[in-house]
Amino acid sequence: MKEVRVRIAPSPTGDPHVGTAYIALFNYAFAKHHNGKFLLRIEDTDRTRSTKESELQIFESLRWLGLDWDEGPDIGGNCGPYRQSERFDIYKKYAEELVEKGEAYYCFCTADRLDKLRERQKAMKKAPGYDGHCRSLSPEEVKAKLAAGESHVIRLKMPYEGDSIVKDGLRGEVKFENSKIDDQILLKSDGFPTYHLANVVDDHLMGITHVIRAEEWIASTPKHIQLYKAFGWEEPEWYHMPLLRNDDRSKISKRKNPVSLIYYREKGYLKEAMLNFLALMGWTLGDGKEIFTLEDMIKGFSFEKVSLGGPVFDLKKLGWLNASYIKSKDLSEIVDMAIPYLKKAGYVSENPSEKEMENIIKIVKIAREPAETISDIPSHAKVYFADEFELPKATEEMTEKEKKNIEKMYVTLQSETAKKAVELFMSKINQCEEEIAEETAKDLLHAVMEELGEGPGKVLMPLRVVLTGETRGPDLYTIINIIGKTRVIKRVENTIKKI
Ligand code: GLU
Repeated sequence: MKEVRVRIAPSPTGDPHVGTAYIALFNYAFAKHHNGKFLLRIEDTDRTRSTKESELQIFESLRWLGLDWDEGPDIGGNCGPYRQSERFDIYKKYAEELVEKGEAYYCFCTADRLDKLRERQKAMKKAPGYDGHCRSLSPEEVKAKLAAGESHVIRLKMPYEGDSIVKDGLRGEVKFENSKIDDQILLKSDGFPTYHLANVVDDHLMGITHVIRAEEWIASTPKHIQLYKAFGWEEPEWYHMPLLRNDDRSKISKRKNPVSLIYYREKGYLKEAMLNFLALMGWTLGDGKEIFTLEDMIKGFSFEKVSLGGPVFDLKKLGWLNASYIKSKDLSEIVDMAIPYLKKAGYVSENPSEKEMENIIKIVKIAREPAETISDIPSHAKVYFADEFELPKATEEMTEKEKKNIEKMYVTLQSETAKKAVELFMSKINQCEEEIAEETAKDLLHAVMEELGEGPGKVLMPLRVVLTGETRGPDLYTIINIIGKTRVIKRVENTIKKI
């Protein structure tokens, strides 16, 4: 087998899309499995919609995921340039070569004629399409029109009969009737290539052996196959991956799902979770194993394990995977990732001291447990940072049950037992050193319960509310240990004023 060479060919128009990462991942895994090469090519032939910013974001997002390319616009390679806007001369030369070979022709039809043609076809309930008007111009006519500077495009001569057969590695043979396929424009009147021409010329010149792309391109593949034939080039192997879908099974769209990789990165999804999730969209490792690494995927990769059912981009599943990676990854890495979010929440100083860092590590260790994303960590860590808080109040949006619970909380808070519990707790806290070990805090809380002869419901619950403003949360002794004596006292005094 010759060296495998595959590519991802995104158009830099807008935010980097999860679909790009999904297709890049499958190309990458296939290439690495076969010790082949993975290329990045920027398809920026649409000069009005392509932006440099979007191109940079594609680079950044794919690098974030670790899907590094072996050849590409920013790193070069033997088949460059890898940006289509820098290859316009090449496309023009190849389009003209096809005209010379009689496989393509100049078309001088004006926009006005094409509009009228379309209207006529519509009125006759015929499928819209070019009618081949300029296909039969004589060489003299063409010459004269070119000499007169008439505006023109170059079109491919599609066969009128027969089928184009896409041999898709995932779905077998897919037939397209040639008579239903238009004579494709290859070179536009401004001299710019169309997607079809640029894509095929580049895949050929860049030695692409396997085209792995989204299912939405399969309708273009017969046109590409005809182009390969017209040039006399060998076609690559084709694999059209199932499309990612919204919950309602429509093609994934930003109206129904966030689709930008930047969104997921900023929200604090881990690259490992993102890759694992995207892999699961079209593939399984086998044995029902849902959590696996990129290395596992590379090692076990084969197209036989790709399933064609339209995978639903299920944010709950992604959240579940992310939570599990957040829990299992090295704590120090999670701390590093969480710090910018904690700083933004105002919980961590710009240059945390060693002591502060010790606390941050303790806090992140606990707060990562319930977190679904890194950006969730501050809300789960709030209880350790916010010394000023309001007590919960019943609101309109609450259910009856929630309202009742709040009422109950106030009743408990105002009970004699609660008052005694707070007093006793404070007198014991006052005797402590500034740093209160978890064990000491645990003993202290037990002693309060024992001396009052009451259980957690009557003692710990009010203490929790007084200390945190919440009825639920992490273990009280952990909170006491993390915030220390001074802040415990400050919090209790603050809350008592509010009751
Ligand atoms: N430029 C196309 C895209 O944006 C490439 C499709 C293909 O892989 O052929 O996805």
